[in-house]
Amino acid sequence: MTPVKRVEPVETSPTSDSHLAHTYHPLPVTIATGEGAWVTDVDGKRYLDCLAAYSAVNFGHGHPGLIAAAKAQLDRVTLTSRAFNNDRLDAFVDALAALAHKDMVIPMNTGAEAVESGIKVARAWGYRVKGVADGMANIIVANGNFHGRTTTIIGFSDDPSAKDGFGPFTPGFRSVPYGDSAAIEAAIDGNTVAVLLEPIQGEAGVVIPPAGYLPSVREITSRHNVLFIADEIQSGLGRTGATFQCDNVGVVPDLYLLGKALGGGIVPVSAVVGDAAVIGVLRPGEHGSTFGGNPLAAAVGSAVIELLRTGEYQERARTLGAHLSSLLTGIDGVVAVRTAGLWAGIDIDPALATGREVCERLMARGVLAKDTHGSTIRLAPPLVVTEDELTWAVEQLRAVLAELQH
Ligand SMILES: *Cc1c(COP(=O)(O)O)cnc(C)c1O
Repeated sequence: MTPVKRVEPVETSPTSDSHLAHTYHPLPVTIATGEGAWVTDVDGKRYLDCLAAYSAVNFGHGHPGLIAAAKAQLDRVTLTSRAFNNDRLDAFVDALAALAHKDMVIPMNTGAEAVESGIKVARAWGYRVKGVADGMANIIVANGNFHGRTTTIIGFSDDPSAKDGFGPFTPGFRSVPYGDSAAIEAAIDGNTVAVLLEPIQGEAGVVIPPAGYLPSVREITSRHNVLFIADEIQSGLGRTGATFQCDNVGVVPDLYLLGKALGGGIVPVSAVVGDAAVIGVLRPGEHGSTFGGNPLAAAVGSAVIELLRTGEYQERARTLGAHLSSLLTGIDGVVAVRTAGLWAGIDIDPALATGREVCERLMARGVLAKDTHGSTIRLAPPLVVTEDELTWAVEQLRAVLAELQH
């Protein structure tokens, strides 16, 4: 058991009389508008958005095609609940299944709900198909994971700030070192129903596993009749230069968990995508969501898939990512860089500054980025950013690190 730390409440809101719960420590910027890769604050100052809402805004702020799809749907019907069918949902799930080369979709809203849904599918599949004794199923996860904020999900996190003080936790999860497929195989027993992994660990600092890891996990899970669930909520839908990061390593998981960019930066849209042999274990009444699969979400989600079908954004992420990666080599004050497509984790020399301090100074120079742990920052600009804008953003990073060295 981890002892519960007593933490003094901290004032993190911009004004002392704010009614906003102190669950975030945002940079002191208040955004009023956004267009493409840029946002403007309430004082009219412009910033290059190098976070893109954790990749939920992959297609840029106010993408004209996505906004048009949302506006058109606003005038038709926005919410029906799943008690009735709506005329947008079938087209959305058909397109999403085709994009993923799978045949069944559970539409949900947030990423955490997709993860929870994947866990329920895996357990039900374990009992009804694999033949695991009732209540005995276990799922293997990786150290350093981030899968969301519900009580079940934080129970298998190893980040104390995510879980301390929120127990008791849901049993049935085993955590092993990330990047080590032998550790996964050693943890599998007859009751293991799934291995749940991020193909790249985003929140951990864009941690990219060794090249053979995911193929090896695929081979091991297939051999042991265990589902492989890929949480592509942040890595998927263009960010890494492919539709799915799994594509980049030649792996096909049993279930994709999708979210973030699926909502086009407009509405929360998430999904579990897999085959009927797995997802088909769920029966009417066993799972659901009031908002999941609503017509507005389905219309926006369909428009997002339309953008991804051309491959244009994946290609941009590859080309711009190569540019970003070359810009980030040999910067004084940077001790390590990890890039995957247009996604970078940058470890700053901890003797120089925390990631937070670097982000505050970047902000003063018109670049919005986000620290992760310690002295790591991440860059994930919208995929509509230009090469020149990236060059300029990295110049600002260089300048910040030069300032800090004096
Ligand atoms: C953001 C994220 C989630 C949770 O998504 P929410 O929409 O915030 O609930 C889950 N998994 C990964 C990998 C994520 O990046």
